Amino acid sequence: MQNHLANSTDRSPVGVPHFHYSDNALYVEQLAVKALAEQHGTPLYIYSKAALKAAWDRYQEAVDGRDVLVCYAMKANSNLAILNLFAQWGAGFDIVSGGELARALKAGADPQKIIFSGVGKQAWEIKKALEVGIKCFNVESIPELTLIQEVASAIDKKAPISLRINPDVDAKTHPYISTGLKDNKFGIAMEDALATYEHAMTLSHVEIVGLDCHIGSQITELAPYQDALARLLALMDQLKTKGIQLKHLDIGGGLGIRYLDEQVPHPRDLINPTLEALQARGYAEVQLALEPGRSLVGNSGILVSEVLFLKQGESKSFAIVDAAMNDLLRPTLYDVYHGALAVELKAGDKRRYDVVGPVCESGDWLAKDRDFAIEPSALIAIESAGAYGFVMSSQYNSRPRAAEVLVDGDKSYVIRRRETIEELFEHETIPDGI
Ligand SMILES: *Cc1c(COP(=O)(O)O)cnc(C)c1O
Repeated sequence: MQNHLANSTDRSPVGVPHFHYSDNALYVEQLAVKALAEQHGTPLYIYSKAALKAAWDRYQEAVDGRDVLVCYAMKANSNLAILNLFAQWGAGFDIVSGGELARALKAGADPQKIIFSGVGKQAWEIKKALEVGIKCFNVESIPELTLIQEVASAIDKKAPISLRINPDVDAKTHPYISTGLKDNKFGIAMEDALATYEHAMTLSHVEIVGLDCHIGSQITELAPYQDALARLLALMDQLKTKGIQLKHLDIGGGLGIRYLDEQVPHPRDLINPTLEALQARGYAEVQLALEPGRSLVGNSGILVSEVLFLKQGESKSFAIVDAAMNDLLRPTLYDVYHGALAVELKAGDKRRYDVVGPVCESGDWLAKDRDFAIEPSALIAIESAGAYGFVMSSQYNSRPRAAEVLVDGDKSYVIRRRETIEELFEHETIPDGI
């Protein structure tokens, strides 16, 4: 691997060998990005199947045949083709809505490996999940528990539940993606946990199967996980004294990826100590579950855009590209770094640019202060766009959403065609007589 130099565009992408330069042109596996952009247009999301598989294999190496269920948190990227790959590889799924449940089933997910998270589950979603027989509801409040009991008894099913406990640990990540602190909306407070479990025990159509937490996202240190685990184990001891035996412990997702130069733990650094701690505490028979999203897909995708204009100012120059904040919201939403690569490396003097889109907002930027030798109609690839990329896209400014392409070796597949202009308003009507 080459050096990772900030602000340099002629480096190999973020540690993922499936995106690489050959003869100064960027490739995804065996296909030139330029050819894919010509074939499918821009803005274009391109994913590498081999990179997805490599990310999945990192988890499987860590699991090493033990009883660990990896549930892909599909909100990170819910394209059917990608879900289907994970289903083929044996993944479970962590879902947060009835829409995600439908997608997962359509993609071939095994319902018995589906975990349903989220603070605002609705009756129809709970009913559907009970009917198909999911593995578990991660319950985040007493009113939700009451609703699950009601829905389950109405259709005479028993709902398997875990309580999502908020362990009040600081995941040391961006406040918008930190979820395990006392004052955010997620989970049940640790001090209410035991009483809530005891309440759940009294419900006729609820079966306690597990304990869950999820402390945040883009976590690059193990300490927050260790702190959370210590608190969960103490709770498990208390539950045992009340006669509550858990079938699984779910430690959530959140492992970070490299966007720039972050050092991120390997999944085994999380899984091994957790399994050891369970064993040492007398919970060897308790299954471990995880809910990784970003770390399974984030560095398996790029967003390719074409330079429309170069605006060279006194103090700042702009590369105005045809992708925008509606295509990739993360830079402006979280003020975060994504690598930006020239798809073709050209000789010539570099200039420093902000890479911005056509949307009428000053917040519409994708990358800042990057050095490129580029001309209009050059292509720029935004790295690490596989997670929370397309799924967070919108049609703001009446911009049809980008196409998505999956590369497998020397083949490419359109896994979501570009939206058309007509589709932008196909659900709208002008009422008669106004
Ligand atoms: C978002 C989310 C995840 C996945 O988080 P990543 O940081 O993408 O791994 C897992 N579990 C829950 C409950 C989530 O909300």
